[in-house]
Amino acid sequence: MVAKHFAHVDTWVFDLDNTLYPPSADLFGQMDGRFSAYVERLTGLDQAGALKLCHDYWTAYGSTLTGLMAHYDVDPHHFLADVHDIDISHLEEDQALSQAIKALPGRKIVFTNGSHNHAKRVLAARGLTVQFDAVYGVEHADFKPKPTQYAFSAVFAKDGVTPTKAAMFEDEARNLAVPHALGMRTVHVHDDPQDADHIHHHTNHLPDFLSQLVR
Ligand SMILES: [Mg+2]
Repeated sequence: MVAKHFAHVDTWVFDLDNTLYPPSADLFGQMDGRFSAYVERLTGLDQAGALKLCHDYWTAYGSTLTGLMAHYDVDPHHFLADVHDIDISHLEEDQALSQAIKALPGRKIVFTNGSHNHAKRVLAARGLTVQFDAVYGVEHADFKPKPTQYAFSAVFAKDGVTPTKAAMFEDEARNLAVPHALGMRTVHVHDDPQDADHIHHHTNHLPDFLSQLVR
């Protein structure tokens, strides 16, 4: 039944973090620690103050980095290399997810608010590299992250995505608002369903959901 809502889709856009690996892998636990350490060194704030600043920027700008660039003239490449310098050795290959993505007809891309390098590392660890035609990091959106309209416009223009023929899979509900407004099919990948006009579908198990779309 759900497949009919995706029959027109020729491009499949996936978020990376907590979408193509389970939140239980807790990469953000490590990244948040590196965010706050970076901000402590930069600002002289203590850890609590740095964490609050990170969160305030994430809320206001879509990412901590954007706030740091606006207020502290941070070099985004230096920042991204630092905060993504994490241990991902516990990530496991996911055959079910790999096969489910492979079976989708059309173009498949990743669009993350993290760096391109981070995405490539994580995809390799998950055994998903070969399934994607392109991988876009926040640098491809000129460091203006999702959920901004700019981010989607920039990356979709680069890739040639026609939003009305595309679907977006994403764990952060707010990052589905612009895709929905652009005419994409939106899928919230999360343990907790969320009621929102800009969410068409919800799943807590991406491989199962994708396998319903291909008959
Ligand atoms: Mg995510």
